[in-house]
Amino acid sequence: MATITIRGPSGLTFPISTRLFINNNFAPALSGQTLDILSPASGGHLATVAAAQSDDVDAAVKAAHNAYRTLWRDVLPAKRGELLHKLADLIERDADELATLESVDAGILFMDSKGLHVPQAIETLRYFAGWADKISGQALHIPNGIAYTKRESLGVCAAIVPWNAPLMITIWKLAPAIAAGNTLIIKPPELCPLYAQKLAALIVEAGFPPGVINIVCGTGPQAGQAIAEQKGIKKLAFTGSSAVGRQILKASANSNLKKVTLELGGKGPSIVFSDADIENALLWTSIGITANNGQICAAGSRIYVHASIYEDFLRGFTARCSNAVHGDPLLSETTKGPVISEGQHAKIMSYVEKGKASGARLLHGGESLGGQYIANTAFADVKDDDIIMKEEIFGPVAAVAKFDSEAEVIAKANDTEYGLGAAIFTNDVNRAHRVASAIEAGQVTVNSWGTLHANTPFGGVKESGFGRDMGEEALDEWTSTKVVKFNILPSREESVSAKL
Ligand code: NAD
Repeated sequence: MATITIRGPSGLTFPISTRLFINNNFAPALSGQTLDILSPASGGHLATVAAAQSDDVDAAVKAAHNAYRTLWRDVLPAKRGELLHKLADLIERDADELATLESVDAGILFMDSKGLHVPQAIETLRYFAGWADKISGQALHIPNGIAYTKRESLGVCAAIVPWNAPLMITIWKLAPAIAAGNTLIIKPPELCPLYAQKLAALIVEAGFPPGVINIVCGTGPQAGQAIAEQKGIKKLAFTGSSAVGRQILKASANSNLKKVTLELGGKGPSIVFSDADIENALLWTSIGITANNGQICAAGSRIYVHASIYEDFLRGFTARCSNAVHGDPLLSETTKGPVISEGQHAKIMSYVEKGKASGARLLHGGESLGGQYIANTAFADVKDDDIIMKEEIFGPVAAVAKFDSEAEVIAKANDTEYGLGAAIFTNDVNRAHRVASAIEAGQVTVNSWGTLHANTPFGGVKESGFGRDMGEEALDEWTSTKVVKFNILPSREESVSAKL
């Protein structure tokens, strides 16, 4: 079927396409291949969508290349900003539909998608819409002349997106890429691509010319790998696991050395000092590992608490994490939905078993609730080398440990291959600055966790990757700098008199 009907809350129904989106056309994969999409809540069949292969990726690159060469690179920057604003307006208008799609397809709570993910996508579109006509260079003095720099678009670019916050992460790439004058190919996650079908319809309605934005759903090893190897693509922005990030780098090296940015995994520390506002720390540390079922790259999955408040903190933490209402993510009374897939459920539960086997103290949870539902789980007294303290679980599983000194907890926090997000809870402003400086991470929050703003850069250090989404820095990732140097010749009279 070329379209299917989606049902949301309060009787909402709407159609979406199930096809690839290339050159503003919805079409089946050239090979006719399809993918079955399953509901995280019920495990049942939700949709069958076209599955792009390398020939579809080639067609998308051709369309994006034509659009770039014949039109888009010469479109006035203010016009690009206008189109991004228009897309933001349409996403705002259809927020319920997009939130429904993230909910039924990815298991994200409808209220989280509508209250956080969709507004963040809109904020990001508007932020970069404002940048479109303000991307500028410098004038530089050189001997006998002047040089100026221009920040130029790269051409055909691509974005590969994971399943945990698909709309928001797609827009983190789309907005700066388009503002900077590139054309784009997006590969949504194969586990939950339906949001991207709606996005494609809004791209057409917003008035983007054919080929400027193309969306090709497909599996990682097929569509994803084909994008990574495609020689016509000049830049690839990837968000996903560190393992796949490595494959992307190899594919770039083996093809055309396309520019790559990687937003990868994390094992974020949340550090609670004895002088912290404890209720505030409990609020944010519990949200930091239970929101979106812990399926967040910047999750605060390692929680370090000062020894003097440790047992009190544990009691408060368990109280906050144990009252989740599990159920259909579309319903307003549900506070915790299913994890994305059977495979993710099995992976998380295998870590829960490793936690139990390690001898750590199980504070709460530790069980599957049937289907793809998992109870919020926390282990206390977790040792530095325990697997659940080391590896990214990407589920609602906290590893908690105590510490005695600032130096000790900084060493523990940095004892990881990752460096994405970190949170510090303290009322001592000097300590907050000292520890924020010492932590190896791309983002540190003080007295909160995981806040996202379109004007602040987001990304990692160490094996959490390189490059930044959002903020002014993101524009650097989607442009290259050209310098033009003028050797200013002396006037004719001056050169004649110099020769005499
Ligand atoms: P994943 O790496 O399995 O998949 C991410 C995307 O890559 C998907 O679209 C997938 O189809 C594609 N892919 C898979 N194999 C590929 C290949 N060989 N070539 C090209 N593309 C390929 O990750 P996931 O399971 O979807 O997401 C979870 C991971 O993403 C976690 O590690 C999480 O920390 C990370 N993540 C990071 C951020 C961030 O901003 N740093 C945000 C969200 C998720």
